[in-house]
Amino acid sequence: MDTEKLINRAVVNNEPVFVAYLHSKAAAAGVPVSATFELTARCNFNCRMCYVHSQDSVLCKAQEKSAEWWIALGKEAIEQGVVFLLLTGGEPLLRKDFKEIYTELSKLGFIISINTNGYLITDEIVTLFRKNPPARLNISLYGANDKTYENITGLPAFSRVIENVKKLIDIGTDIRFNGSFTNLNACDAEKIYNISRELNVYIKGTQYMFPPVLAGGKYGDNPCRLSPEDAAQKRVEWLKLIYTPEEYKMRLKSMVEGVDAFELSGDEECGEGKVKCRAGKSSTWVNFRGEMCFCGIAGHSFSIDEYGFNGAWEKVKEFSASIRTPARCEGCRYKNICCVCAAACYTETGDFSAVPAYICRMTECISQLMKKETEGLE
Ligand code: SF4
Ligand code: SF4
Ligand code: SF4
Repeated sequence: MDTEKLINRAVVNNEPVFVAYLHSKAAAAGVPVSATFELTARCNFNCRMCYVHSQDSVLCKAQEKSAEWWIALGKEAIEQGVVFLLLTGGEPLLRKDFKEIYTELSKLGFIISINTNGYLITDEIVTLFRKNPPARLNISLYGANDKTYENITGLPAFSRVIENVKKLIDIGTDIRFNGSFTNLNACDAEKIYNISRELNVYIKGTQYMFPPVLAGGKYGDNPCRLSPEDAAQKRVEWLKLIYTPEEYKMRLKSMVEGVDAFELSGDEECGEGKVKCRAGKSSTWVNFRGEMCFCGIAGHSFSIDEYGFNGAWEKVKEFSASIRTPARCEGCRYKNICCVCAAACYTETGDFSAVPAYICRMTECISQLMKKETEGLE
């Protein structure tokens, strides 16, 4: 990848350029430079759109791997080249042995990030992170008040989450918010953005929701997500919120020009696509059962107890390389503004090589809205 593309991608992902550089080198060498350890599928929230957590917490707990298992895996992972480690769930802080797992994995030298819903930040956790801060804490914000939180997560947790965020900011924790918008909380988007500004925390807004296939949902179905038309509308409104008027204008212009300039070359000439992201190239995911997956959304797992870390990684790489994504996407005029990925094709249709109708419609609407907006800006 040339330097300009590398920098663009780094800016898009809000990550330092050296991370993108390491990933490109690691992918070329077939090394898993980043890994996610999904410590549990249990959660203290019960979000209706969740793609991972299961309601059967007893069964989930019985299937979880022990602290010793994760620490031993960490030792293998670091030997295989893993540098960036994301601890996730469910809710990872729900594990009583979280402190032990985190402390021991930190000692191994990983750059550790943690995904959490921010509710279980006890005094013990604050002390832990003060002494041994994670590189980053990713906190999902589900609403701008207790009522929206209760509607979406089952708990009126907003006030407590914000209180916890402030405690973490006070001790210097590097926090990033994730805002996932559904038909239950999209009305709070602007307020959520304003909260992030007041707290001076970067927020990534997502209007597309995967169907929760791994949590027992149906392909192509997420009852809480916005219609493709509304998701498009919210996407464009979000861009307007997060950019200055000048940046917004420039971004719209470049996206519209990109769509207009792209020559539709036809499916036959394009051939099938391949996995475009880092999944199974420089990045891997280990689920709570101790299975290594191509990615945390699309499943397809290999037992680490059976194959070992390295053996499972070889299987995951092979699987990722074997995936073929839709030919139509390769020749599509919207491909540079479309969020489609291999996991989206799979969870939308049950087939990596099938075009996801929901995403097509959403992207087409985004394009139309942007065009309209651009005309209004002239
Ligand atoms: S907080 Fe996250 S893991 Fe927990 S139920 Fe909600 S979406 Fe799922
Ligand atoms: S999902 Fe649809 S809009 Fe997106 S690139 Fe593929 S064909 Fe185009
Ligand atoms: S396939 Fe999609 S969801 Fe999975 S890691 Fe890649 S971009 Fe993310």
